[in-house]
Amino acid sequence: MTKVLISGASIAGNALAAELARAGCAVTVVERAPAIRPGGYAVDVRGVALEVAERMGVAAEARRWQTDTEGTSFVDADGKRIATLPRGFGVLDPSDIEIMKGDFSGVLHEAVPPGVEWIFGDTVAALDQRGERVVVRLERGGVREFDYVAGCDGIHSRVRALAFPGEHLHHLGSNTAVFTAPNEFGVERWQLIHTMPGRVISVKTDRDCQATQASSVPAQSAGGGSRDVKVTLLYGGGMPPRDRAERVRSVEAAFAGAGWAGPRLLERLRAAPDLYVAPNAQVRLPGWTAGRVALVGDAGYAPSSLTGQGTGMALVGAYLLARHIVAGDDLREYDRELHEFVEVNQRAALGAARGFAPKSELAARMMSLSIRLLPYMPGRNLMFAAMTSQARKAANALILPSAIS
Ligand SMILES: Cc1cc2nc3c(=O)[nH]c(=O)nc-3n(C[C@H](O)[C@H](O)[C@H](O)COP(=O)(O)OP(=O)(O)OC[C@H]3O[C@@H](n4cnc5c(N)ncnc54)[C@H](O)[C@@H]3O)c2cc1C
Repeated sequence: MTKVLISGASIAGNALAAELARAGCAVTVVERAPAIRPGGYAVDVRGVALEVAERMGVAAEARRWQTDTEGTSFVDADGKRIATLPRGFGVLDPSDIEIMKGDFSGVLHEAVPPGVEWIFGDTVAALDQRGERVVVRLERGGVREFDYVAGCDGIHSRVRALAFPGEHLHHLGSNTAVFTAPNEFGVERWQLIHTMPGRVISVKTDRDCQATQASSVPAQSAGGGSRDVKVTLLYGGGMPPRDRAERVRSVEAAFAGAGWAGPRLLERLRAAPDLYVAPNAQVRLPGWTAGRVALVGDAGYAPSSLTGQGTGMALVGAYLLARHIVAGDDLREYDRELHEFVEVNQRAALGAARGFAPKSELAARMMSLSIRLLPYMPGRNLMFAAMTSQARKAANALILPSAIS
């Protein structure tokens, strides 16, 4: 029986575990966190990733958990709505699934058949490839041998650091801070966006922070409304500091003088227990396999959070790697198959990184004017389709091989 170690139990790790275990492999998953991480922010499943979700049999369950955002409004510095889109901001096509990252991890985790070994609260300390075996030392769990090791452990991957020497993380000059705050905006099933030179504030109602995967149907909040909102702050700058107090200070400095709800949200950020600050960064490598070790998802080819494509890429990568492991292929087949998909998506992300916010007051005013005019423009649906065509192309830039029989 083929023995596979997966490091990381989020999107890529759970998807790979599900596919491999279903095909009869002996799978061990080691995850640094004490449990599958809940919550997070909204992510998107679209294009070829939707097809993978269908093939894996998780699309219907993911749809039950999707966010219920009905529209997005752009607001000015006084909070006045200047234009509205009839959908969540990352939803390009009506069939796309927008879902909280923790909920999607949970859906994938539930799809993993029994028999997989889960080791929480540990990590890979050393890897040694000896012929057709990989000898792995876990920090707490001793020495084990596997046929393959998959690094699904995110943008700061430990497996990548051990098996792919060199620095492969490229910061794109901006960061994202995400946290939960009380819904003081009087909105329901809605997203509000305010853009300023070099900065963006987004507030999105949270369907139900209390919903857990254990409940069979996502529940509504007490009273039926959204008690909380997910706040996303996008801002230019270098790598975020590691220390929390310094992180808070760096976000405060970036949003000093911000309009709309800026000052109130900074107060909420200081008290937020779930503040998460991430660099908008890409992982770039010429290939994602080294012998019997492979990288999947953000660990190998993070496109940056600015594309809305990282989750889909992690899902597609896991599906393709599973096929090659099950077939006993040379893993370089996985590199070949993914190459163009990764390249197209990372290129699209570079455009998003350059234009995530207006650069100057004048550019901000021009942007605000075009947003205001958008609803009155003839052919605005065509314009929206043109604006999102690169993202749509990137999401579909791979033809899936036939399903594992
Ligand atoms: C702020 C933000 C907003 C985003 N918005 C979107 C969006 O709108 N749409 C979209 O598609 N994508 C979005 N993304 C990207 C998306 O979250 C990632 O691309 C996706 O989660 C990648 O999945 P993954 O499984 O490869 O890695 P991750 O989700 O990062 O999971 C890595 C897992 O490995 C574990 N781990 C880490 N280190 C170790 C270790 N040493 N040992 C063991 N386990 C370890 C972690 O605990 C985690 O469970 C966003 C990202 C960020 C940061």
